[in-house]
Amino acid sequence: MNNTYKKTIENAYNITKPLKDQGELATYIPELANINPSKFGVHMTKIDGTNFGFGDHLEKFSIQSIAKVLSLALAVKFLGERIWTRIDVEPSGTKFDSLLLLETYKGIPRNPFVNSGAIVICDILMSHLEDARKEFLEFVRELSDIPDLQYSDKIADSEKATGYRNVALCNFIKSFGNIKNEPADVLDFYFDMCSLEMNCQQLAHTFSFLANGGRKFDGTKIISSSQSKRINALMLTCGFYDESGEFAFKVGLPGKSGVGGGIVALYPNNYTIAVWSPKLNKNGNSFKGMKLLEDVTTHSEMSIF
Ligand code: GLU
Repeated sequence: MNNTYKKTIENAYNITKPLKDQGELATYIPELANINPSKFGVHMTKIDGTNFGFGDHLEKFSIQSIAKVLSLALAVKFLGERIWTRIDVEPSGTKFDSLLLLETYKGIPRNPFVNSGAIVICDILMSHLEDARKEFLEFVRELSDIPDLQYSDKIADSEKATGYRNVALCNFIKSFGNIKNEPADVLDFYFDMCSLEMNCQQLAHTFSFLANGGRKFDGTKIISSSQSKRINALMLTCGFYDESGEFAFKVGLPGKSGVGGGIVALYPNNYTIAVWSPKLNKNGNSFKGMKLLEDVTTHSEMSIF
C-alpha cells in the first residue's frame, strides 16, 4: 500500500511541477518576497510511521498561518470548550485579513483560522499561560520533535514592520472588548507565532497527532480524540479562507494553508501530507500546492468522502 501512495504522490509531483504558477509571492511581508518562487516539495507521513517526500521537501520555509492550528490546539488543550464564547466556528467567506465581519458580529471572529480569530486565540493564551510565547514554542517543539525550534526574528520583524491590517484588526476587536491584553503585546506574540519555519517532512510529522485521534505516533496524548475531531472539522470548513469550499470540493481533506506557500492536509487514521510552493493564487493559497493535493486525492480516491 505504501508503494501505491508513494507512486501516486510522485506522479502528482511530476505532473504539477511543470505547470506555470498562476499567482504571486506574498510580498506584503517583505521577507517572504525573497523566496525562490520555483521551490516545490511534498512529504507524506503515514500513521504507521513510514514517510517519503519529493522535491524541496527538506528545505524549511515560513509556515505562517499553518501555526494557527497549533495555537488553537494549545488553547483547546488548556481551556476546552470555554474558548468558543470568544470565537465562532463558521466559515468566513472573506479574505484572511478582512475586517468586514467583525463589525457585524461585534468583535467575535468567525473562526480561529482567519487572522482576527488567531489574534483572539493569542490573547486567550496570554491570559491563561504564564509566558504564552515560550509555552507555545515548547508545545510546538514537542509536537515536531525539533528540540531547538526557534521563532524567526527576521520574518517576525519583517511582518511587524508592515502588518498594518493586523494592527487594525487587533485594535478593532479590542474596541468590542474581545481582546483583554495590550494589543501591541498580543500582536508581538501573533507575529512570532506566524514566523515559525519547518520543512515539509517536519510539518507532516508535527500534524500527525491530528491524524491519530489527538496522540503523537509515539502514543503521547496531546488532546482528546473529540478535540482532535473538532479541529479537523474546522480545518475542513475554514482552513483555506475564502477557498475552503473549493478545497473540500476538489481535495476532500481537512487542511490548512499559509501565505508562505505551505499546505498541510490529513486523512484521519491514515496519513498527513505537507506541500510547499511559494506562489499564491488570488485567495492566498499555494497554487501548485492545491493542484498537487487535488491530483493526489483524485487519482488515489483517498479522500474522507
Ligand atoms: N502572518 C500572516 C498574516 O497575518 C498569516 C496569514 C496567512 O498565512 O494566511 O497576514
